[in-house]
Amino acid sequence: MSNKFKKAVEYIAKLQGIGPRQATRITLAVLNWPKEEITRFSQAVFDLSEGVNLCRECFNFSEESKCRLCSDPKREPAKICVVEKITDLEAIEKTGLYRGVYHVLGGAINPLEGSLPQSLKIKELENRIKNRLATATNGSKEELEVIIATNPQTYGETTALYLEELLKPTGIKITRLAKGLASGSTLEYADSATLHHAFKNRR
Ligand SMILES: [Zn+2]
Repeated sequence: MSNKFKKAVEYIAKLQGIGPRQATRITLAVLNWPKEEITRFSQAVFDLSEGVNLCRECFNFSEESKCRLCSDPKREPAKICVVEKITDLEAIEKTGLYRGVYHVLGGAINPLEGSLPQSLKIKELENRIKNRLATATNGSKEELEVIIATNPQTYGETTALYLEELLKPTGIKITRLAKGLASGSTLEYADSATLHHAFKNRR
């Protein structure tokens, strides 16, 4: 096997869910692309080393300081759906049901892997809620809803409980997605109908 080929396969195989055989197939496919296309592809990967811009408000991908969802006047800013990752946000967006905004934590609390509350965007969520409450007019506290949509897995559950405890004293409405998503599954891979149901029946 050529060294160049081997190196590419090794990197692709590092991706979650991709084994060595699949990595080999992907590398072969890329080899068949025109040279300019391979160059553009490697440039795109290289550009990632500079980091990507995130929305200052919700931490979704964004080229501007605010993402397209946060700056959309048709979205309801008083409904904040808290997710672990941007891919979860995208899965919910695909259902087309949700009209509020999001807050991307950047993962779940998982002490074994060094993912602690302070390494997630939890402080930012608290500040966001505080700011909203401070600007809310005459007792519209009840209108603010935080929907906890972490994954129904051990660490997602830990994170949800942590957030519930943390936010309880604010007196705002806190809801969780309805059961129905198989426990141990992730939002990212749930089908639209299941997510739709989980959202509609949140409590
Ligand atoms: Zn945003």
